[in-house]
Amino acid sequence: MEFDWSPEDEAFRRDLVAFLDQTLPQDWEEMSKQGPGGEGQAQFSREFAAGLAERGWLTQHWPVAHGGAGASSWRHAILGEELWSRGEPRGPQYMNVNWIGPTIMEFGSQAQKREHLTRISAGDVFWCQGFSEPEAGSDLVALRSMARREDDVYVVNGTKIWTSYANHADFCFLLVRTDPDSKRHRGISVLLMPMDLPGVEIREIPAVVGERYFHEVFLDEVRVPVSCRLGPENEGWSVVTYALQYERVGAPRYARGARTLDRLAEHARERGLLEDPTILEKLGEARALCEAARVLSYRVIDQRAHGAPPSADSNVARVAGTLADRSVGELALEIFGADGLESGSFADSNFRMAMTAGVAVGATEIQLNLIAGRFLGLPRE
Ligand SMILES: Cc1cc2nc3c(=O)[nH]c(=O)nc-3n(C[C@H](O)[C@H](O)[C@H](O)COP(=O)(O)OP(=O)(O)OC[C@H]3O[C@@H](n4cnc5c(N)ncnc54)[C@H](O)[C@@H]3O)c2cc1C
Repeated sequence: MEFDWSPEDEAFRRDLVAFLDQTLPQDWEEMSKQGPGGEGQAQFSREFAAGLAERGWLTQHWPVAHGGAGASSWRHAILGEELWSRGEPRGPQYMNVNWIGPTIMEFGSQAQKREHLTRISAGDVFWCQGFSEPEAGSDLVALRSMARREDDVYVVNGTKIWTSYANHADFCFLLVRTDPDSKRHRGISVLLMPMDLPGVEIREIPAVVGERYFHEVFLDEVRVPVSCRLGPENEGWSVVTYALQYERVGAPRYARGARTLDRLAEHARERGLLEDPTILEKLGEARALCEAARVLSYRVIDQRAHGAPPSADSNVARVAGTLADRSVGELALEIFGADGLESGSFADSNFRMAMTAGVAVGATEIQLNLIAGRFLGLPRE
């Protein structure tokens, strides 16, 4: 078995790192702390993702017919690692290439593929994810947003919450109930809703992870053309399940954690903290967690590269990524001491991001429940 990167993959990583060194602005670290919702970062992200697209790197792992180059999933993994370790300069567009595009590829009509995949692979479109509702988070199938069919439109009413990047989004990957008498997993549909339709109102929710990150999205008699529905009516749950498998390993947080650890170790050395065996042990533990998360993510990527169906391995990789993130975030506070308490400082921003890792994309407890059920076959009670 060969565990090394191929010479071509290594050359790609080198070119990419050189591109990042050249392209990221001097104040990128500060800008990236605003979170992808901040004005500066949002604007930069569009130019940056378009630059990746021009080089053929943004969606190189997609089939040629959909704006890709037919490269392996490993190329996309390298792209994700290098970009996440630098604070994800693609902004919200990481979601497009990780899971929104692949889900449209799988379930979309020809017209939807033409419209959306073309724009995503050109790097000029922002999406948001309209899943969570005030009464439906971990228990997503409790969602109540309703789409009433009237001829060739759905009339949508409801409220979405915690919608990241909604302020800049051109489209929303929206979950609604299309059968008013349905319960739980049945009767749900996915709509690819343009965000500029009348009746869509967006309100910001203050967040620990940066300005303009979270939003409530109010939908009041929004008329969404039926042609925007992704997949069959009332069978949206299979579409969502497919999308979530991609989303869980889409963000290689372990790569950001590993880069942060390098900086923590350097800072600890300068302050003489490496003499402290407890700090050394914690640095080692955090590094081991990042490496474990990396290898577990690679397992999922390998399955994908071999065309294997999605499995609970993506939940395992997600939990490992969260543990790694938390461990690095907590250690940053410990090593920076009182300086780390300053709002917006290096340690503070790392800690805040790590805090949310175990909640987004399904809380850690839910991932563990899924692993227990799907992977280990344990009884529910
Ligand atoms: C950074 C970030 C970005 C996000 N972006 C988006 C977005 O763009 N779009 C979107 O739709 N949503 C988004 N969310 C929302 C996210 O999907 C929800 O927060 C998540 O699904 C949890 O739902 P909740 O907040 O309602 O918490 P709850 O479901 O109320 O859970 C609260 C706590 O109870 C625990 N819990 C709940 N049920 C169980 C159970 N059965 N067993 C054990 N423990 C349980 C959970 O683990 C959690 O710790 C984002 C969240 C974060 C943190």
